[in-house]
Formats: sequence, C-alpha cells, structure tokens
Amino acid sequence: MATVTGIGWDVHPLVPDRPLVIGGVTIASELGLDGHSDADVLTHAVIDAILGAAGLGDIGELFPDTEERWRGANSIELLREVRPLVLASGHELVHVDVTVLLERPKLLPHKAEMRENLAGALELSLAHVNVKATRGEGMGFVGRVEGAAALAIATLEAR
Ligand code: MG
Repeated sequence: MATVTGIGWDVHPLVPDRPLVIGGVTIASELGLDGHSDADVLTHAVIDAILGAAGLGDIGELFPDTEERWRGANSIELLREVRPLVLASGHELVHVDVTVLLERPKLLPHKAEMRENLAGALELSLAHVNVKATRGEGMGFVGRVEGAAALAIATLEAR
C-alpha cells in the first residue's frame, strides 16, 4: 500500500446578500461568500485535496460552474459524491486537514460542526478530520474582508 497526498486551495469573494456557508455550516454574517454553488470555500478546498491525492483532476472538471444543475449546490453533498469516486479509483480515505482564512466572524464556535459535516460526508472518524481557522490580521484580501480562502491536505492509501 502506498500513501498519497493532495493539496486543495480555494477563494471566494465576500459580498452582501449571500449566505456565509463554511464547512456546511450557515453562519450569521452581514457578508456571505459569492459563487455558482453555495461557495463553501472550505469544502471546495477539501474536495480538491482529495481529488488531487486520488489523481482525479479538480473540482472544476467534476462540477463545472457552467452547469445549471450545480447552481446553489450544497458543497457537502458534492463532497459526499467524491467519496465513491475515490474508492473506485482504488484509494481509501485516511485523513483530511484544512485551514480556512476569514477575518470575521469568528469561526471557533462552528468548527466542531464543520468537522462533523466533513467526517459524515467522507465516512471518516472525527479523529481523521481536522478543521482550523485563522484570520488575515488586517492584511491582504482576507484581512480587508474582501474574501475568504481555504487550504486543505488529504491523505489517502492506494490499494
Ligand atoms: Mg470554490
């Protein structure tokens, strides 16, 4: 058995009149993330990390933002669809770690629920899914509250 890893990176702009959905949790906020789907930046980064480790391309190939059926899509449901593809490619999910960068609101009260959402969709134990949150400290597009970013890493075993 070989261990393989993949990285995922995503950004979405913060705009008025959109829900703020991160890790499958809808968070009270004046600004939400804009995008074709629910713009769940954290879950998108996790999907790309997993696809990368499995050698399955990227989220844009799998769920094109030109397709009407993905409009407003629940990204946790997209993540759930990724798991059988990973298994079919001869891989077993082992571990996922993700960091989300958002200036505000604070994500600490929501991290446990995000972790549960990811673990549930991937059928992994909570011990093998980790969610971290940090801020931009006033710097860059995150610090200026223009958008959010997420960086993920996935570990798989090749069967
Ligand atoms: Mg995205």
